[in-house]
Amino acid sequence: MKITPIIGLEVHVELKTKSKMFCSCSAHHFHVKANTHTCPVCLGLPGALPVPNKTACEWCIKLGLALNCSINQDSFFERKNYFYPDLAKGYQITQLQKPFAINGYLDVDSHRIRINRAHMEEDTGKSIHENGATLLDFNRSGVPLVEIVSEPDLTSAEEAKKYLTKLQQIIRYIGVSDADIEKGSMRCEPTVNVCIDDRFYTPLVEIKNVASLTGVMNAINFEIKRQVEKFAKDKIEKNSSNKTTRGWDAVKNQTFLQRSKEGSADYRYFPEPDIPPISFSAAKIQNIKATIPLLPDQKLDQYQKLGLSDADSQLLSRNPSFAAAFDTALDHKTDNDFAKFVANLINGPIRTFLNESKLEIDINSIHPTHFQDLFENQDRLSSTAIKELIIDSYRDNLEPLENAKNKNLFQVSDVNTLETLAKEIIDTHPKAVEDYQKNPAAIGFLVGQLMKASQGSANPQLAKEIFEKLLK
Ligand SMILES: [Zn+2]
Repeated sequence: MKITPIIGLEVHVELKTKSKMFCSCSAHHFHVKANTHTCPVCLGLPGALPVPNKTACEWCIKLGLALNCSINQDSFFERKNYFYPDLAKGYQITQLQKPFAINGYLDVDSHRIRINRAHMEEDTGKSIHENGATLLDFNRSGVPLVEIVSEPDLTSAEEAKKYLTKLQQIIRYIGVSDADIEKGSMRCEPTVNVCIDDRFYTPLVEIKNVASLTGVMNAINFEIKRQVEKFAKDKIEKNSSNKTTRGWDAVKNQTFLQRSKEGSADYRYFPEPDIPPISFSAAKIQNIKATIPLLPDQKLDQYQKLGLSDADSQLLSRNPSFAAAFDTALDHKTDNDFAKFVANLINGPIRTFLNESKLEIDINSIHPTHFQDLFENQDRLSSTAIKELIIDSYRDNLEPLENAKNKNLFQVSDVNTLETLAKEIIDTHPKAVEDYQKNPAAIGFLVGQLMKASQGSANPQLAKEIFEKLLK
């Protein structure tokens, strides 16, 4: 049996605008007292009139452009019949016929995944089920939401994960959303079916309630296996057009039937009569495009051209905050050695420090001159000392050279001083000298004695060379 999974992804992204989509209520709803950010518009009270959030519309277009979409200069909103109590007016304002952005793509490795659309809509409130009752919190009702719909071009759970990760990076780079799957500001609904032997298609399933990247992968893999097994068992499903919605149970690690999917007609779309059509001039779209920074792939390319390793380039480019920190420290210099030096410090000691302290990287704590000073003085400092000094610089804004002097971290590289010390050690440790003459590895002991005598300030490499010369 030849099995070809067919996977599409519908992704909802909450925009982090200050206010909601159609009213001036705060769009902030995470850890907020229930129903405190509401008004007649987002509660759907009769007579309340929606006014579109200009920033949200522009950000939707910005996101569309970052995803290589064409922009519909003339667009309008529609009402979509909505069946649940968490959207009080009984319909959702969304876009069907003229979404802001259409026909884009995202390249995952070298596979081009087509994007059908990115349209603007509003989020629903939250239903909270407690002690047999359903409570409603409308703080999220009306928060700007962009829906990004891919074509079913993905062929595995791993590829879906890569697509989502890349989408998340792009969204964070352009700064329109936190795109946090765990917190719900990015939500993914995979659609899955399977083509068998290039002839039969299992019925399409849309999976809901997936709350993590791992969940997306597990749900897709489970669904592929379930559909193939069901097909093998009763073959009744072949070429059926029956679509269903299944929920994801992350505890049992399986999907379960929720409902047969409503046809588009059930949504009874019609143009939103309270909002006039929206037009964006070509010049305006161009202005929005100009605000898009270099995106992760372009950053990766830029870092590789600076001579950074693949691993360093990936680590820096996949997180916009780290990329910004690196760019700040680099301060427009193009010297490959300096770039590598900076990347090592940011991906090494600084990243470790942040992980251990559970902190996000703060660009204000990156001092370009400190990186430069350390780079220029790396011959006089051990790698351990450099790590310590850059952490002190990051955490406490301590000037590295002054700090190195205070902490006595400069290595003595003065040959005469070290030679004098080495001669004393040779005179006082005849047994060690004898050992060295039998076994060159025993030089470690002599170098150790010199480090001790210099209170750790000797350059160990130089010390070794001096002993080798004196004992030849
Ligand atoms: Zn409101």
